[in-house]
Parts: sequence; C-alpha cells; structure tokens
Amino acid sequence: MSTNRLKERLDQGPVICAEGFLFEIERRGYMASGEFVPMVSLDHPEVLENLHREFQHAGSDIVEAFTYNGHREKMRVIGKEELLEPLNRSALKIAKKVALDTPKGSKPNLMAGNISNSNIWKHNDKESQKVVESMFSEMIGWAVEEGADMLIGETFYYAEEAFKALEVMKKSGLPTVLTISPMGENKMRDGKSVVDTCKELEQLGADVVGLNCFRGPATMFPFLKEIREAVKCHVGALPIPYRTSKDYPTFFNLPDRSNCECPSPHGRTFPTALDPHFCNRYEIGKFAKDAYTLGINYLGVCCGANPMLIREVAESIGLKVPASKYRENMENHFMYGKNKRIPKHMTEYGDKA
Ligand SMILES: [Zn+2]
Repeated sequence: MSTNRLKERLDQGPVICAEGFLFEIERRGYMASGEFVPMVSLDHPEVLENLHREFQHAGSDIVEAFTYNGHREKMRVIGKEELLEPLNRSALKIAKKVALDTPKGSKPNLMAGNISNSNIWKHNDKESQKVVESMFSEMIGWAVEEGADMLIGETFYYAEEAFKALEVMKKSGLPTVLTISPMGENKMRDGKSVVDTCKELEQLGADVVGLNCFRGPATMFPFLKEIREAVKCHVGALPIPYRTSKDYPTFFNLPDRSNCECPSPHGRTFPTALDPHFCNRYEIGKFAKDAYTLGINYLGVCCGANPMLIREVAESIGLKVPASKYRENMENHFMYGKNKRIPKHMTEYGDKA
C-alpha cells in the first residue's frame, strides 16, 4: 500500500515549505543575479546545506531540492550542460540529508524534488513542448532515484506547461504540488484564467494546487480566495515578500520609490534593487494567518524569503518551531524594554533617539 505522506500531513493541519533559494543564495554571495543558475550545489554544497538547515530550524516541513533553473536549457545557456546531472543529484542528496536529520521535537521533514518554468515553452509549438517534456522527465527521474518523498512543480505562467509538468510528475507515483505564477496580465500566458488552471490541475490529480512567486501578499491573496472556493484539494500559497499592488501586480515592473537617488543600472528594481519594497515580518505573518483561516494549509514564502519570515509564517498560525526560542523580545531592549533594570533615563530618551 502506498501512502501519501504529504496529503496525510495536510489533512491534519498546516505544512510549511520554504522556497526562494534563488534570491537568498544570491544575497549570500554564491550566485550571479540575473543569470540565476544554482551552481551552489556543486560549488559550495556546505552553503546550500546550511540554508536548508536554517529554514528547517525556522519551521519548514519540506526540504525542497534546489534545482530551480537547474534544467538542461539553462545549462546550455551558460555552456555547462555536462554539469546538469551532477548539479541535480548533488542538490537532491543535500536536501535528502537535511530532511533525514530533522531537529528533535519537529515532525519528520519531507524531501521534495523540483521542476519549474522552462522559459522555452511556446504556445502551440509541439517542438518546444517536446523538449520541455524531456527536460522535466530527466529531472523527475533523478529526483525519484535520489529518494524524493514528493514533487513540486512551480512558477509556471503557461497553463499547458503546468499540465505537462504535472503529467510527468504523476508518472512517478509520488505526492505532487503544482503552483502557478500568473504574470501582470492576471491570467496565464496561454489565455486560461488562473482559477480554471487550478481546477484543471486538480482534475489531473495534483495533491496541492495554488500560487507561488511573482506576487506579493496584496496581489496573490484575491486569487487564493477564488481558488480555495473553486477546488476541493489542498491549496498552496507562497508569495514573494514584496509590496506588489494593483498597478504593479508582480515584482517584475515595480518602480522604485520616489526618494531613490541611486537606481539600479539596468533600469528596474527587479531583481537587485527590490529592497525598499520588502514586506515586514508582520505583513507576512498576517498573510499566512489569513490564508490559513481561508482553509489553505500549504504555506510558505518564495523569492525574497529568509528564515525569519518562515518562522513568522509558522508562529502566525500558532506553531512553535526551534527558532521560536529566539523570537523577538523587546522586554530587554536598552531603550524600549520594560525590564526593571533598564534605567529610566534611557527609556525616557527613546522618543528622541
Ligand atoms: Zn520565487
């Protein structure tokens, strides 16, 4: 009898999945922005392993192998196709190692294999679609061989590419998560509506459907509400932690704030100058709580995520995680604390500081 550990966990309550490795590894100095190839699993495996451990410490239940963009086409772009399989296997092995080493008191983690937007999928073009299918198949094959407990297909902005990804993932027999990422047109690039795409993904057998990446809480939440009402299966919600808006639904075209005196050299805030738009932790906590209240049990944060935000997601829905030991404690702050030992002349100075 095969069991669906992901679905069992989701039926019982929330499951948290940290994503956003691309931005975080770049911020840490181990990846070129713009190019965005996850060479880190080969170049600095210890850095990737540690990031997984930090997310796990912050409450992630899933260790997602960092193979995002680690597909054959991207490796061709950078002229390193021969490293495709070693990169994938290394990322999967690191994720498996961390997943099997869950901290005391936490539920056992699940290791997830990952495929994503190929960027060569073309509407009504059988040839490009065949190439994409074989890219998905080889990556899923490696994930299965390296012991994935589940599979995540993510960041698809073509509905049909998402359907194809799910079809390939389903052949493995593993639990599946399929999250889509509509661009600023607020529909899939091949014309399907966001909700219809999710309904079809459910029909095709995904265990979890929903949204990840591109959109911050403000422009992702309205879709989530509609999706939650339209499907019976579990729903996933993994926004970017940036303040997107009705005028700028995704982070791709977010203009800088008017007080910016030093704009990015490439003419847009994405992806290296988004910092002024960053959501604070309370905004992310509120988003997670609101989504959970809607009945969305698969929660996380995508590009821009860090362990602090993952802890916030966990705590906002009432969970205690290893990193909760170090949650904020303003009580002992040198100016704003209420601890009896903080001298009065310091607490009184706080407003002038
Ligand atoms: Zn992302």
